Amino acid sequence: MQVARTVQECRALRAAMPGVVGLTPTMGALHEGHRSLMRRAREECDSVIATIFVNPTQFAPGEDYTAYPRREQEDLAICEAEGVDLVFMPPVEEMYPEGATTTVSVGELSTILEGASRPGHFDGVATIVTKLFAITRPDRGYFGQKDAQQLMVIRRLARDLQLGVEVIGCPIIREEGGLALSSRNVYLTDEERTQALAISRGLRKAEAGWLGGLRDASALRGMVHEEIAAQPLARIDYVSLADAESLAECDGRVTRDALLSVAARFGKARLIDNTVLRIPAGLGQG
Ligand code: AMP
Repeated sequence: MQVARTVQECRALRAAMPGVVGLTPTMGALHEGHRSLMRRAREECDSVIATIFVNPTQFAPGEDYTAYPRREQEDLAICEAEGVDLVFMPPVEEMYPEGATTTVSVGELSTILEGASRPGHFDGVATIVTKLFAITRPDRGYFGQKDAQQLMVIRRLARDLQLGVEVIGCPIIREEGGLALSSRNVYLTDEERTQALAISRGLRKAEAGWLGGLRDASALRGMVHEEIAAQPLARIDYVSLADAESLAECDGRVTRDALLSVAARFGKARLIDNTVLRIPAGLGQG
């Protein structure tokens, strides 16, 4: 496995890579969720690049940029174990040279839900992913459904800017109790971690309701809200049920595939999770 710390090194090593190249961008503190993306890329591509970069521009003022966990040696060992060919791990100055003023914004999609709670977040994501695509020139990019709106933003930018990268969404990896894996879970105390299980529990209850034929948007949102709000340490940012394509909030009876998503704080950790509620095949999207 090779490790590049400068853009120049990365470009040179990329140029020598054979066949179909898969990319898994991460912010490090790697866990099974990240590993699942690397594994999928390893299975489907001839060459695999992972990037590890805690991107300052996607953190809103007052967020956890400085506290975000950094574990360089452990992360490199994980990449090696997953058969990654090249890790690009640049310092901040390398990605944001002085005087850089160009940013990428996908428009309205970045202003709702996560974008409303975290102003500027998706412009930071879109900008860094565009830069990483330009530097590593992958054929395929692997991203987690855990960050469902981010995945939509990245699909949109790849399409709109005609980058020629196939964006592949990968399933959410969870702990046994249901908690979605996240680098931010390290902030949780034992008590907060136990209470945070209410997020996935709430989503599962709503899913069960959906499978049983419940289609009322506010009732579905309510099931998740109620489950989380019953936890004394929870502070809910939002519970959303939105059209899976436009992210327009659902109202009344849901007749199309919908994304049920949550953001909630438990102590220092702001956690997100989601599930897609699909209209069963054959019933049409009326
Ligand atoms: P991050 O390091 O948090 O920026 O995440 C890097 C990539 O890993 C993103 O595409 C995430 O969606 C994905 N990811 C993070 N957590 C999970 C998880 N629990 N399951 C699947 N993918 C994940």
